Amino acid sequence: MTDRQNDRVRVGRVKEITSLTNPIIKDIRALAIKKNRDRSGLFLSEGQKLVIDAMDLGWTIRTLVYAKSAKEKAGVASLAARAVAAGALVLEVSEKVLSAITRRDNPQMVCGVFEQQFAALADLQPKQGETYVALDRVRDPGNLGTIMRTADAAGASAIILVGDCTDPFSLETTRATMGSVFAIPVARTSVEGFLKWCDSAEATLVGTHLEGSVDYRTIDYAARPVVLLMGNEQAGLPESLAQRCDKLARIPQAGRADSLNLAVATGVMLFEARRHALEV
Ligand code: SAM
Repeated sequence: MTDRQNDRVRVGRVKEITSLTNPIIKDIRALAIKKNRDRSGLFLSEGQKLVIDAMDLGWTIRTLVYAKSAKEKAGVASLAARAVAAGALVLEVSEKVLSAITRRDNPQMVCGVFEQQFAALADLQPKQGETYVALDRVRDPGNLGTIMRTADAAGASAIILVGDCTDPFSLETTRATMGSVFAIPVARTSVEGFLKWCDSAEATLVGTHLEGSVDYRTIDYAARPVVLLMGNEQAGLPESLAQRCDKLARIPQAGRADSLNLAVATGVMLFEARRHALEV
């Protein structure tokens, strides 16, 4: 939000908006575009439960938006009060405005604008029993969101985005994470930065490759911390990264499919690598 708009609307006040041309609504809608998310450092998350979870986990909410028709619904008033207390702007809007913000015909009744948070790669220091997921140039927002959700569910410690990756804070990605965007730390780096980090991290780098020589089920994932390195959807892992891996694992396949979908392959790898840590 611009300073001019901040001046117009005092932070902490509840404001009713019905017009799509309102400048605050325009700014929120603009978060659909990466350039605007990058510039503002903000992103949109949908759903009352997710907004509450995010605040519980310490994420900074800038704006809470709820449908006027949901005002009387359980928890909405107390969430609004909590957001006001946290210094957020609270907007009570028409469903038409919510639809426009979320780009959906049947929008969630509550959404929040949050500050983005990236983990610093230097702060990720793999410890015994931990598993990290590194993604080489992941391009598909749905794949990234699904991987973030799966990594969270499998108890991975963080995701490392290597090279030019899709934005973890796009609406499509955050939707696919089903809330895990707030739970799994995400760091980003270049190929060089990643390899430098690998040099200092005392972890086994397990690359996954269609030509991998090791059956993924034969690796000891408990002996040391593990970094699972997954290749780009189209190109797979480049030679420069593959040759730096301690092991190149392959998931055996039958049938006619050339390869598994990236998110599926990551899920298969993660639950095998976390087997020692997961109990029913
Ligand atoms: N055409 C690409 C290639 O030649 O590698 C296919 C990439 S695949 C869709 C995306 C990523 O998923 C791969 O780079 C690898 O990390 C992982 N993957 C998919 N199927 C796999 C398998 N059977 N074994 C190991 N990794 C696999």
